[in-house]
Amino acid sequence: MEYFPAALEKLVEQFARLPGIGGKSAQRLAFHVLSLPEEEALKFAAAIVDAKKNIHCCSICQNLTDQETCTICASPKRDQSTICVVAQPRDVLSFERSREYNGVYHVLHGVLSPLNHIGPDDIRLQEQVKRVAAVQRYNGDYGGRADLK
Ligand SMILES: [Zn+2]
Repeated sequence: MEYFPAALEKLVEQFARLPGIGGKSAQRLAFHVLSLPEEEALKFAAAIVDAKKNIHCCSICQNLTDQETCTICASPKRDQSTICVVAQPRDVLSFERSREYNGVYHVLHGVLSPLNHIGPDDIRLQEQVKRVAAVQRYNGDYGGRADLK
């Protein structure tokens, strides 16, 4: 790696930090980026910055969104009283691809793993507990659609 210019070495190091990318793959990706026309390389960099600036967790379900609430939570067509609890945002995509599920989601952003010292406070479990309590309270009081905030 010391044979590369410093800027290229930094780029390789950044790619090597990505999950599943080893040293050789990081070099291949870095060389690919260098081979891109400048406009394409800038689009790539801008996409990273844009995603990092604008993507955050939905205030209701903790799924990734660029709005206050995600499109699933905001949809009046979804069954708000049925919540599918998933570990990661990519799990929502899997369910949505099935086109069979019409409820909403709660994304924990992890799973309990006592052996790895990941407990209830390390995932979005408290948000889920509050949400279920809100649904139960609303359904119990009004028997209708829950206000999930
Ligand atoms: Zn949501």
